[in-house]
Amino acid sequence: MHRRLTRQVSIGGVTVGGGAPVRIQSMTNTDTRDVAATVGQILALAEAGCQIVRVAVPDEAAAAAIRGIKKQISVPLVADIHFSHRLALAAIDAGADKIRINPGNIGGEENVREVVAAAKAAGIPVRIGVNSGSVEKELLAAHGGRSAAALAESALRWEEKIRAMGLEDLVISVKSSDVVENLEAHRILSARTDTPLHIGITEAGVGEAALVKSAVGIGALLLEGIGDTVRVSLTGDPVAEIAAAKQILASVGQLPGAVNLISCPTCGRCQANLAGLAEEVRAGIEKLESARIAAGRKDVLTVAVMGCAVNGPGEAAHADVGIACGKGQAVLFKKGAQVGTVREADAAAAVLSEAEKL
Ligand code: SF4
Repeated sequence: MHRRLTRQVSIGGVTVGGGAPVRIQSMTNTDTRDVAATVGQILALAEAGCQIVRVAVPDEAAAAAIRGIKKQISVPLVADIHFSHRLALAAIDAGADKIRINPGNIGGEENVREVVAAAKAAGIPVRIGVNSGSVEKELLAAHGGRSAAALAESALRWEEKIRAMGLEDLVISVKSSDVVENLEAHRILSARTDTPLHIGITEAGVGEAALVKSAVGIGALLLEGIGDTVRVSLTGDPVAEIAAAKQILASVGQLPGAVNLISCPTCGRCQANLAGLAEEVRAGIEKLESARIAAGRKDVLTVAVMGCAVNGPGEAAHADVGIACGKGQAVLFKKGAQVGTVREADAAAAVLSEAEKL
């Protein structure tokens, strides 16, 4: 699939844009001043596969905490700043690997200039994070109110200003909680800038609805080749965002090392406990996928779990490893060839063992 080629920036050694894989990021929801709790959550996020972590910096103590947090983690740390350029300066001083600011809300261009100069001196990138609430009044008036075009224009204006201030290492985000507005804004941006884009659906909500909305919104962008780093915003434990981000990336073929599971919905022909079997295989391949990604594998595996001998063998034979269930037993396929028959009770273990060998 074609991806739009952007400039590459490095965030604490992790490349974003310029053909690098779409990087998965998240944000802690602990009190940043509580170093132990924040480090604990960052380590859990990193363990789950998060490649860049952001922390909120609401005050001087939070900015200062970055120094202690950084000593205990290896994943790059981004400081999220609102309203105060002094906090941005303090976070840079404390060792943040990137600063996320909304240039429209930190008190004018002179303050932005100070932050940009400090980021440049520290050799770190800045993310211009614009949201619909901060779009300048004249842009709202010019575009007839809140719109995708006003949002994109606001980000592009700031990009131009910050580049003129001498900083090229930028990332842009324009997040909207509206999937259509989000897509339109990104289409405008990606046509007009080669700055890497941080994508996501902001404030997606909770539960299944949030997952589906995020998948549709982020998936639509990725399918157009847009997006260099992604955050899935879910209310709750941020570790869940990582599994969701991986699923979305894997679904559009952009998760190197992924293991895709195909399983049929079952119908009246199925004589096996396919739901149980598929769940067992899913849990196993989740671990396998994490290990493959950690090992730097780039190839993608497909594992099929099918319920009968009608459509099952065809799908199973197309997968790297597949199984087509009968009554009490299942036929095992590997790379298109039938390699044996196993008892239904042993089927999940057999599929996983074959997948691991690949
Ligand atoms: S593979 Fe077989 S059991 Fe599964 S949905 Fe298709 S026909 Fe039904």
